[in-house]
Amino acid sequence: PRAAPSSGPASEKTPACRTMYVIPFSMGPVGSTLSKYGVQVTDSPYVVASMGIMTRMGTPVLQKLSEGAEFVRCQHSLGRPFPLKAPLVNSWPCNPEKVLISHLPDTRQILSFGSGYGGNSLLGKKCFALRIASRIAKDEGWLAEHMLILGITSPQGVKRYMAAAFPSACGKTNLAMMKPAIPGWKVECVGDDIAWMKFDSQGKLRAINPENGFFGVNQRDTIPIPAGGVKSQLGNVSGLHTGSSTPCAHPNSRFCAPAAQCPIIDPQWESEEGVPIDAIIFGGRRPEGKVIMHDPFAMRPFFGYNFGDYLAHWLSMQSRKAPTKLPKIFHVNWFRKDPASGAFLWPGFGENARVLEWIFKRCGREREDEAARKSYIGWLPEAGAIDTKGLGGKVDMGALFDVPKPFWQQETKELRAYFTQQVGADLPAQVEAELKALEDRVHS
Ligand code: GDP
Ligand code: MN
Repeated sequence: PRAAPSSGPASEKTPACRTMYVIPFSMGPVGSTLSKYGVQVTDSPYVVASMGIMTRMGTPVLQKLSEGAEFVRCQHSLGRPFPLKAPLVNSWPCNPEKVLISHLPDTRQILSFGSGYGGNSLLGKKCFALRIASRIAKDEGWLAEHMLILGITSPQGVKRYMAAAFPSACGKTNLAMMKPAIPGWKVECVGDDIAWMKFDSQGKLRAINPENGFFGVNQRDTIPIPAGGVKSQLGNVSGLHTGSSTPCAHPNSRFCAPAAQCPIIDPQWESEEGVPIDAIIFGGRRPEGKVIMHDPFAMRPFFGYNFGDYLAHWLSMQSRKAPTKLPKIFHVNWFRKDPASGAFLWPGFGENARVLEWIFKRCGREREDEAARKSYIGWLPEAGAIDTKGLGGKVDMGALFDVPKPFWQQETKELRAYFTQQVGADLPAQVEAELKALEDRVHS
């Protein structure tokens, strides 16, 4: 028998069983050489509706599968069969005591039980496009990364593409969809969370966004409230009013929106060969007073295989067939704070375009020392090289680019401990040599 929608009080007549849905889907445009297919079975209608937005789902994929295309096997159950043995909390079927998400990279399989949360149930996203895909990428010689992809156009009409890896809640979506605060510059979005990248036959790194939508956090102004009121996700009505202290939804509740509806989606976002990447930016934030979670690639929760082998795989890109022009690598921290006041030193958001401008120009420069000065931790923007016009002199650029040696002496100690504990004997010799050289410089 067909299952009715799973919401509503348990006292209502509940169906005899859940419907099992079969979802053929593609990560990346159907037919692109960079794309991969999957089939998910699930007992959640929420998952079906969301996968329809977050992936390319349905008949064109079935066609590819019937032609013999490989696919990742994805199994999902909420772990809450009908008839219900106990009422649902917040109309949200799941089985929190028995949640188990397992990945089998060898056989390209994902098994997810007990959770309806997006990351655990929309299996095309973190489970497939990062964990399983990072392993496929290792086997096939490409990269599956936790990165946004953006296109940036200068006032002269020159366009470049950049990818950036920041851990969750460190600003990927905001950067990918930013409105530049400097006149004449334009940013367009290819993807806000995941990048699949491969060197093409010309030796240029090409990237696609394997997703078809955005999986966003509800922050505000998301629904107009009808006069009679509506019941919120948490079952209350008062929480729906602006200024109410009662939350109307879980703080990590999400919505899906089709990427094609993004007003600044890049015209090349579905390009089959991917967009050419000129720069890769790494970043994050340091929690004050807490233990620092080293996560240099923002992949800590998403590695599909050994971290040391992952580092070696990145390094192997340099010796791959004809990489004529490796992208330039940058590091940013939008979240540095003034130790005295605790306030952010940098305004961030649209103002980050000033930093993108410096990166953009650096990609086109011939000489390494143009607009940059060499420090013991690498090249930094030369004083005045980042445009601060319009910031009203409020930003202390000196403090932002101050690199005190005592800090870095402590930092290198922590880096060494991190590599020893987390990577051990698998640390590639090149990384060990770089760390040793950095240690020497910070102590000289
Ligand atoms: P994502 O999870 O990596 O996509 O991060 P989001 O773009 O969703 O941002 C996470 C949080 O960081 C939000 O609360 C943003 O307001 C905040 N944020 C994003 N960009 C900046 C920035 O440039 N500066 C500061 N101070 N906060 C930012
Ligand atoms: Mn995001």
